[in-house]
Amino acid sequence: MNLEHLNELKKLLSSPKKIAIIPHKNPDGDAIGSTLALWHYLVNTGHKASIVAPNDYPKFLKWMPGSDQILNFEKENSQSKSCINNADIIFTLDFNHLGRVGQMSEILESAKATFVMVDHHQEPSDYAKIMYSDVKMSSTCEMVYVLINQLGNENSITPEMANCIYTGIMTDTGSFKFAATTSNTHRVIADLMDKGAEGTEIHHRIYDTNSPSRLHLLGCALKNMVILEEYSTAYITMSQDELDTYNYQKGDTEGFVNYGLTLDGIKFAVIFIENREEGIYKISFRSVGEFSVNDFARKHFNGGGHTNAAGGKSDDNLEETITKFTSLLPLYKNQLQS
Ligand code: 5GP
Ligand code: MN
Repeated sequence: MNLEHLNELKKLLSSPKKIAIIPHKNPDGDAIGSTLALWHYLVNTGHKASIVAPNDYPKFLKWMPGSDQILNFEKENSQSKSCINNADIIFTLDFNHLGRVGQMSEILESAKATFVMVDHHQEPSDYAKIMYSDVKMSSTCEMVYVLINQLGNENSITPEMANCIYTGIMTDTGSFKFAATTSNTHRVIADLMDKGAEGTEIHHRIYDTNSPSRLHLLGCALKNMVILEEYSTAYITMSQDELDTYNYQKGDTEGFVNYGLTLDGIKFAVIFIENREEGIYKISFRSVGEFSVNDFARKHFNGGGHTNAAGGKSDDNLEETITKFTSLLPLYKNQLQS
């Protein structure tokens, strides 16, 4: 965070405050890890802080220290609303515009609090008075690590916080393999291990706690994969019926999209997942190299994200969505083949 904004934040936090911390809708490891680490820090330094998540999040994240304190806006609506309305400060973590919190955006827009954004997505909007936006960062968790070190001292990070921050860096970097992983990311991880993060245990809890039905769902996804060699593209579709057949639980499709990129020569991987309740197909886009899925998602599928990982949605049915998608590919043929 730059000095001007940091000093403003330090001044705000110099006396006990009521604080709400908000991750994006369908929070992932980075969103939950960063909000929890910041929550621990703020509570440890004498503030009254609460995390309000727009909706539920996967079971494989629910072991994280403090996760039982997270309010779910959909389920604990009045308590969530009063936290937001009464807050002096609202931290928004791991998202770049208020639309990313779904139904909760209205109440955030009318909140009186001072907004603080901590985020690594491209093209941040300007709702926050205090901003820490850095698209080069591997994860919001890495940014929270930097911020806590700027606000506190070398003893500020407890083992609980170290485990939360490690988790978000690990999940957002695909276990330290994506391009945004820097030497500094590894230095942060090393320090977190010194401060009590248990890397092997975290990997186990996130990646090795599958249910049999989740692996069967993965089998179904891989069977549905369509490979378009001409465009170095692979896509997967999942209907609500298929999700129901394999007893889909929140988070079960996490990471499926990446399988497309494990194919030799594939540079663009996509998964379309039906959500009948919302009447949409939620889409995840991944790429390797220069091809910007952020631009693609933003331009054609009402979404965004990062250069190599983005999301979006379609209100059309599957056939129309796939027709739209495949008819766009010729426009990007040069980029996808280079
Ligand atoms: P995922 O595909 O794993 O849901 O998301 C990949 C990246 O894109 C994440 O950084 C996520 O925050 C972002 N993202 C996912 N869905 C959306 C969306 O609908 N709109 C925007 N702007 N970003 C999204
Ligand atoms: Mn993130």
